[in-house]
Amino acid sequence: MTTQIKATCPDCGEVNLTPDDVQLMVCTVQTLSYYAFDCAGCVRQVRKPADERIVSLLKSGGVRVQRWRVPAEALEEKSGPVVDYDDVLDFALALGDTDFLADLARAARIS
Ligand SMILES: [Zn+2]
Repeated sequence: MTTQIKATCPDCGEVNLTPDDVQLMVCTVQTLSYYAFDCAGCVRQVRKPADERIVSLLKSGGVRVQRWRVPAEALEEKSGPVVDYDDVLDFALALGDTDFLADLARAARIS
């Protein structure tokens, strides 16, 4: 007999799932752990945070744990001004004013 797991879709309400329907992603940073499932009612992926209690419950229900690691650069403290849309646009325009990248590509092809 397959374990039934009850979860809630924000649009459809309570749904019944099997352990294979649930993706349990446990992160090295506990607050980023989550579980997800594709709701059969609205065909939407529902993703919710999974604290230690929920991880334990899902594991006991037979859900397989997938572990993931946050890239270190994502956890770095950021300082300085925020790069905004205008900065990206200026950068793209500046790329059009130089042959620097083309020169690099040409040099790489020759050597
Ligand atoms: Zn739904």
